[in-house]
Amino acid sequence: MIMPAKTVNDIVALCKRRGFIFTGSEIYGGMGGTYDYGPYGVELMKNIRNAWWNAMVYSRNDVEGLDASLIGNRLMWKYSGHEGGFSDPLVECKKCGARMRQDKMRDQTKCDNCGSTDLMPPREYQLMMGLTIGAVSDGEINAYLRPETATTTYINFKNVLDATPHKLPFGIAQIGKAFRNEISPRGFVFRMREFEQAEMQYFVRPGDDERYFEMWRQIRIAWWTDVLGIPANKLRFTPHEKLAHYAKAAGDIEYEFPDGFDEVEGVHNRQDFDLGSHTKSQDEFKINARVMKNTDSTVKLAYSDPQTGESFIPYVVETAMGVNRAMMALMLEAYTEEQLPDGKTRTVLKLKPQLSPVKAAVIPLARNVPELLNIATDIENELRKLGIGRIELENSGNIGKNYRRHDEIGTPVCITVDHQTLDDNMVTMRYRDTMAQVRVPISDVAKRVLEVVSGLC
Ligand code: ATP
Repeated sequence: MIMPAKTVNDIVALCKRRGFIFTGSEIYGGMGGTYDYGPYGVELMKNIRNAWWNAMVYSRNDVEGLDASLIGNRLMWKYSGHEGGFSDPLVECKKCGARMRQDKMRDQTKCDNCGSTDLMPPREYQLMMGLTIGAVSDGEINAYLRPETATTTYINFKNVLDATPHKLPFGIAQIGKAFRNEISPRGFVFRMREFEQAEMQYFVRPGDDERYFEMWRQIRIAWWTDVLGIPANKLRFTPHEKLAHYAKAAGDIEYEFPDGFDEVEGVHNRQDFDLGSHTKSQDEFKINARVMKNTDSTVKLAYSDPQTGESFIPYVVETAMGVNRAMMALMLEAYTEEQLPDGKTRTVLKLKPQLSPVKAAVIPLARNVPELLNIATDIENELRKLGIGRIELENSGNIGKNYRRHDEIGTPVCITVDHQTLDDNMVTMRYRDTMAQVRVPISDVAKRVLEVVSGLC
């Protein structure tokens, strides 16, 4: 029997039912474009973050980590070009009042909501969320929540360079929240107002930029296929048709969502635009800012070649991934409905075990039977000591329900303790994808779980 195609709604329902993602501010009517991550969503996001950090930082010797403040001085966002230029074209329908992002409208002459052609002319809509920080009374915006991690990396370029032994090329990686006052949040966690980015800025000599752009483009596509396990035919790289004024080359890694291909990560050659603007702005900043009155120093985000003494502004190749979009793509890919021999269907999240929110569940066959519970608890504790992530113990006495739940949250293996265990010290290991059940000695359980989680079986 052919199962129906999976949809975003299947994922939304699973996320709510099993505790991955909830609506933000839910019991007060929600808050558009915000979501709360529940117990399994937190784990899955953490595992994606770790997989990215392992690949981008730990497995290389040329990339450092950074975790910059989410709240930033207004001037930083002015001189980065965001205050004046980080906007989307907003169109308002005169008939129903709907507000739409012009470049994402189905038909730019008609309202997406009511079909009316009576539309206001587009106007630029500022996406940054302004803040009033400190005990100021006038309520004027003096800070912004960051709309990307990149700028907060650029302004720390010199700090990291001076504190580490790097020569060019080297990179700075950052994972963290970003905030955008999106005109129309949509597609579940695809377009949110508060989201998470995993971005890396790679600083290179001018002239080396094209080579490193191509290198990072390939590395990043390979990460999506090899580490997340997304099939290559569900990914594509689309170069930008219209380049931003500062970009020499740019493109998107796109995943094939149920509605079609859409961006999950950008790779950009930003030349010296950012480090250059923040360096140039320092003179103006010095004149205007009271804090700088008594100093002659301005910060140059430049690099001095230790051999030649030559000083120049490096070029930047950026990789910019959305962690929430990665999680959504991963769940869509892993979500599987299967027909069982008894005519029933089961839903399974076929995640790579390294990414699964729960690594193993230990299940006594009957509820509150002390002998069974004691053995299960011993196994649970032994597995916890492996340090491989979340381990769960189920004590509901409903084995069918337990297996269903763990299939749906993607737990790769369940370990069942039954009455026979009391005689033979053996338990049943039940594997998620094949549903195969194997009887093994308790003393082998930890080793086998390790094999499963490290992808060896
Ligand atoms: P879009 O064209 O979809 O608005 P963008 O090109 O502005 O995205 P970037 O600024 O390049 O996006 O951000 C890098 C990544 O951050 C994107 O590839 C995406 O995965 C993620 N991202 C951007 N905006 C959002 C959002 N509102 N919600 C969730 N993820 C986002």
